[in-house]
Amino acid sequence: MTGEFVYEANPMRVRFGAGSLSALADELDHLGLRRVLVLCSPSQQNTAERVAALLGDRCVGTRSDAVMHVPADLAARASAEAVSLGADGCVTVGGGSAIGLGKAIALEHHLPVVAVPTTYAGSEMTPVWGMTRDGHKETGRDTAVLPRSVIYDPDLTMGLPVGLSVTSGINAVAHAVEALYAPDISPIIALMAEDGVRALASALPAIAQDPSDPQGRSDALRGAWLCGATLGATTMSLHHKLCHALGGTLNLPHAPTHTVVLPHVLAFNQSHTPEAVAALSRALPGTADPARRLWDLCRALDAPRSLAELGMQESEIDRIAEEATNRSYGNPRPVTREAVTAILRAAWSGDRPTESEQ
Ligand code: NAD
Repeated sequence: MTGEFVYEANPMRVRFGAGSLSALADELDHLGLRRVLVLCSPSQQNTAERVAALLGDRCVGTRSDAVMHVPADLAARASAEAVSLGADGCVTVGGGSAIGLGKAIALEHHLPVVAVPTTYAGSEMTPVWGMTRDGHKETGRDTAVLPRSVIYDPDLTMGLPVGLSVTSGINAVAHAVEALYAPDISPIIALMAEDGVRALASALPAIAQDPSDPQGRSDALRGAWLCGATLGATTMSLHHKLCHALGGTLNLPHAPTHTVVLPHVLAFNQSHTPEAVAALSRALPGTADPARRLWDLCRALDAPRSLAELGMQESEIDRIAEEATNRSYGNPRPVTREAVTAILRAAWSGDRPTESEQ
């Protein structure tokens, strides 16, 4: 950090704690909401029904068809339903897919979103929306989609499978890593990023050992909140651009893709971002090389480590390298087509990041 910064707080309210879902009606009161549409993914239907029961006649409908990357036709149907039901807001129950659907409705009709996140992806803390039309994912920023209120209840994450907990947790770490070297980092975001990584690095092994460990679940969700807040406050660099290209073009799974790519992009950037390396070394103790420390953590947690195992063909490396370099964006180290190809090649084969990437 040079000493100069701009910091703008996102206007939102967070309620955190085991059992805090029971305060959902209070949150709706706080926002003056009386007729909400509840949104979730198909596998979260039980939790959404619990939420609907908790809200009684304040819940005017439930949709359980949220999917990744928010298909535009689904967003249009959900928006039309919200209008026809006279909804005055949406409650999203689930991960980034459910929140993404709520954001799409908010974008069109400015209906407030109350988010109840059940993964560590972090979308609930950002004014970023995404929508997919004809195989192309469009994204944008609009304060209308920023959830007004977020309820983080670790009890709702107890059933998140270990594999998804780990990759979703590393997805959160990726936000903090790129925030730490973002051009618009500020001191408060740097603190949040470092503490978010610290919380997740200790929580994920605890969850892997005992998925219903209350302390582990609470620490992981707190870490996800902190990391998500850093995503909402800064501009992301090469790692997020690459994952966007891999997800959008090849439809690779979101959180596992972040997990595989992160150590390699960090290894590439480390030599150009000493302050981020210092912060990450404090958060991931025992090394001055956070990139390899992260890769080792992923291996210890049995997370996917290669793009090949996620379904990417080696022949697709060039196409993605081109896509990730055909527009310029900020990154602490200059991005060349050759460098991105090398990063993709290493991530594709699943090798531990090497000295040459640094
Ligand atoms: P997701 O929401 O699709 O959830 C993954 C799967 O886990 C789903 O099947 C879901 O039903 C299930 N699940 C969720 N919580 C569970 C729980 N507690 N127990 C058991 N199963 C559970 O995936 P995600 O990784 O949370 O989100 C990915 C999507 O979010 C992508 O579309 C991505 O682009 C988007 N995203 C957007 C932002 C943003 O700022 N706009 C940030 C991060 C992610």
